[in-house]
Amino acid sequence: MRLDTPPPRASGSTRPRSGGECMEFEHVPCDLCGSADYRVRYRKPDNWLQMNLFQFPVVECSGCGLVYVNPRPTMAAMTAFYPEGYHDGRDAEAFVARYRSQRALLPPLAGKRVLDVGCARADFLSFLLDSEDFEAYGVDAFSPGVTDARIRFTRGAFDAAAYQPDTFDLVMSWAVFEHLHHPSTYFAEATRVLKPGGRLIILMTNANSLYGRAAYIEDVPRHTYHYTERTLAAYALKCGLHLSDIRFDDSIFDGRGRGTLRMLAGRLCGFTWEKAMRGKLPWPTRAAMKLGGALDAICFATHWEARLRRSGIMIATYEKP
Ligand SMILES: [Zn+2]
Repeated sequence: MRLDTPPPRASGSTRPRSGGECMEFEHVPCDLCGSADYRVRYRKPDNWLQMNLFQFPVVECSGCGLVYVNPRPTMAAMTAFYPEGYHDGRDAEAFVARYRSQRALLPPLAGKRVLDVGCARADFLSFLLDSEDFEAYGVDAFSPGVTDARIRFTRGAFDAAAYQPDTFDLVMSWAVFEHLHHPSTYFAEATRVLKPGGRLIILMTNANSLYGRAAYIEDVPRHTYHYTERTLAAYALKCGLHLSDIRFDDSIFDGRGRGTLRMLAGRLCGFTWEKAMRGKLPWPTRAAMKLGGALDAICFATHWEARLRRSGIMIATYEKP
């Protein structure tokens, strides 16, 4: 959910903190096609928590093109990457504008049965229920619970909630699929619990964007899977859904590639993640990155990438036949 990752700081007080030295890793085949062949696109440390200097490989499957972190922390080890309070604060006033944008992408809800996967405290469902009368369900593995009695909440993974088949008119999930350890399980479960004619609407990051390829904004390792139009279509084929629409939309989260020129300038002038995280980037590197950052502000002032279907954020709509 943390899609507003700040760009890596070039210098100053950033220092790797202690902890996280004993991460348990797993090496996994492609979740989409099962291939174990891949090439490394880039490596990036956790420049948000900065627990250590390990650079996680972000790889692209040689078979189907799926982009994912490999090796990655196991599910149990990943909890260290979600500090307490990570999921808080989504009901703040600032989120209302975001919720309005999300609502605009949904079909009419009156009389429908709706599930929010990864609903956190279900603030978005509460927002919707204030103006529409529908049956609201939420599931979340990490949320402490919901306070709105209008919402039927289950704590756990999507497939552990054991909903009846053909139950929901709409299953939605906002900025959750990039955090999963087994996306194919979630696609299959959505297919199973949707009514025929029902829709799955998900928002996630786009691996074929400057945001995902050049600006190093993907929140690695928390963003375990980075999708593209091609891999989203392949998931539809795999689980028997019809991919009816993909929107490239920066109105909910900012998917612009700000940081592309800053990182390019840095790499041309000796940037390394290790130097950056130790606060040891020399001044010419810092100066070049500052200049690149100024050019970023001009180049990415508008949302031209979304118009070219290249923004870092996508919203996919699937229908169950
Ligand atoms: Zn694959």
